[in-house]
Amino acid sequence: MDFLRPTSWADALDLKAARPEASPIQGGTDMMVELNFDKGRPSALLDLNPCRELFEYKEIDGQIRIGSGVPYVRIINRLAGPLPGLAQASRTVGSPQIRNRGTVGGNLGGASPAGDAHPALLAGNAVVEVESAARGTRMIPIDDFYIWVRKTALEADELIRAIWLPPAEGPQYFSKVGTRNAMVIAVCSFSIALYPASATARTGIGSSGPTPLRAEPAEEFLATQLPWHDPAPLTEQVLREFGALVAAAAKPIDDVRGTADYRKHALSVLARRTLGWAWTDYLAERKAA
Ligand SMILES: Cc1cc2nc3c(=O)[nH]c(=O)nc-3n(C[C@H](O)[C@H](O)[C@H](O)COP(=O)(O)OP(=O)(O)OC[C@H]3O[C@@H](n4cnc5c(N)ncnc54)[C@H](O)[C@@H]3O)c2cc1C
Repeated sequence: MDFLRPTSWADALDLKAARPEASPIQGGTDMMVELNFDKGRPSALLDLNPCRELFEYKEIDGQIRIGSGVPYVRIINRLAGPLPGLAQASRTVGSPQIRNRGTVGGNLGGASPAGDAHPALLAGNAVVEVESAARGTRMIPIDDFYIWVRKTALEADELIRAIWLPPAEGPQYFSKVGTRNAMVIAVCSFSIALYPASATARTGIGSSGPTPLRAEPAEEFLATQLPWHDPAPLTEQVLREFGALVAAAAKPIDDVRGTADYRKHALSVLARRTLGWAWTDYLAERKAA
C-alpha cells in the first residue's frame, strides 16, 4: 500500500486526481479500524494531516466554515455556542481519544448511516464544500450529499474541504439511543433545529435508513402547528403526532443493534422529547427578550 503525504492542500488535490482510488485519511478513527479488521485494502492512503488549513474554523459572511480536519473536541469546546446541535452530537461520539482525533469531515467521508454528525448537519442545514484539482470548488447542500449506504455525492477525484453551517438562530437538540451510555454506535438518533425567523424547523434522523434522513412530513406538520406568534406550551397531542410522523419517515432495518420496530418507537420518543426541550427553550428566550 502506498502512503501519500501531500505538502499542501493543492498537492493533496493533485495526488487525488492522479490516484482517484487513494483513500483519504484524516483522524483515522474509521479508516484504521477498517484496515486492522481487513475490511478493505486500498492501494493507497492519502494522508490529509499535513494540510493544516483543514484544521481551521472561522465565521465568514455570517456562516461558520469548519475545516474537514477540525476534531470533535474543538467543536465541543469552541463552537457549542453557535452550533449547539452539532456540539451535542460531537459530545456523544466515542471516547475522549476518538473525539480528539475524529472529525466531521471523516464522518461525512465514511457516510455511515449511524454517524452522529449527520442528523445535526441535516437539521442545521449544512453545506459541504468539496474540491478537485480539475473542477475547483463545489458546494453540496447536505440534503443532496448522502446517496446510499456509505455512498456520497463526492466524485472520485474530490476531497471534502469544509462544512458550512449557519449559526443557530433558535434552539437545537441532538439525542441518541445506544445499547449503553457511552462509546456506542447509535441504535437510532435524532436532531431538531428551530428557525424562528421563518417559523420553520428542520430535522435529521440517524441510524434508521440506508442514509441519514430528514423527516419532511414532520417538519411540515410543525410549520402549521407550532404557535410561533402566540407562544404557548405545546400540547401532548402535537408532541405525539410529531413523534409519530418522525417514526413514519424512518426506514430502519432489523440488525444486531436493534429491530426496525424498536428503532421507530425510540425515534418517536426522541423526537417528542427534543421538540419539547427546544420549544421550552424558545419560550424562555421569548420571555427573556
Ligand atoms: C472506538 C470508536 C468509537 C467510535 N464512536 C463513534 C460514535 O459514537 N459516533 C460516530 O459517529 N462515530 C464513531 N466512531 C467512528 C469515527 O470516530 C467517526 O466516524 C469519525 O467522525 C471519523 O473521523 P476521522 O477523521 O477519524 O475519519 P477517517 O477514519 O480518517 O476517515 C473516515 C472516512 O472518511 C474519508 N475521509 C476522511 N477525510 C476525508 C476528506 N477530507 N474528504 C473525503 N473523504 C474523507 C476516509 O477516506 C474514510 O472513508 C468511533 C470509532 C471508534 C474507533
